[in-house]
Amino acid sequence: MLEVRNVSVSYGKHRALDGVSLSVAAGEIVVMLGANGAGKSSFLKALGGMVPMLPGASVRLAGKELVARPAHRIVDAGLALVPEGRGVFGDLTVRENLRLGAWPRHAREREADTLEQVLALFPRLAERLPQAVRTMSGGEQQMVAVGRALMSAPQVLLLDEPSLGLSPLMCKELFAALARIRTLGVGVLMVEQNAARSLAIADRGCLLENGRLAGEGSAAALRDDPAVRRAYLGAA
Ligand code: ATP
Repeated sequence: MLEVRNVSVSYGKHRALDGVSLSVAAGEIVVMLGANGAGKSSFLKALGGMVPMLPGASVRLAGKELVARPAHRIVDAGLALVPEGRGVFGDLTVRENLRLGAWPRHAREREADTLEQVLALFPRLAERLPQAVRTMSGGEQQMVAVGRALMSAPQVLLLDEPSLGLSPLMCKELFAALARIRTLGVGVLMVEQNAARSLAIADRGCLLENGRLAGEGSAAALRDDPAVRRAYLGAA
């Protein structure tokens, strides 16, 4: 469903990404692993239209070319990004944050149904609809951020380090909910430091090193790969 070809990004003379290609199918979870500074955030930002790509790239979602579209038109086309740091509105309630996500026309038309799906995915949010988001824990705020992105009725969801700064318990709950996003038929591409948890729910994964793809495979194959175990899973 999402077909990404040859994405390169430069910041001045610094080449942060060099010809990265990958795909995400409907209902599939793909995780991108990589060290700090490997270019993972730059990749998601480029797909979301927040950072320009060098010429020669193609990002097709359900056959539509998204390269060079402004960010809001990328969301409109069905690709939603949850940035690192979440970007939720702390002074607004959970319900208000979720409603704001439903701004694309196709999403507004089915807002009530999508809200039901999001609340089923995150029962914790259902209990807290009138609560101001700034009074919630980091994990709950991350659920609001993911929920808000889902309210735009995306075909593919991009998640930048969703587990960053979360307690182990919250992390577990969040990943359990992310695994269930599949059942909505939404594809997920996530960038994560927590290799063990993300590979446990992912279908496939890839490794980014110095801005280039350095490997890819099924999540099971990556979990068993000795080099991956050493670099990302803390195995001796
Ligand atoms: P992290 O996990 O630390 O966020 P990352 O894999 O997401 O790392 P990026 O944030 O994409 O990596 O950064 C890739 C490289 O590009 C780094 O060397 C970073 O310093 C550089 N970089 C990122 N954003 C900018 C920017 N706006 N201007 C200049 N250089 C940048």
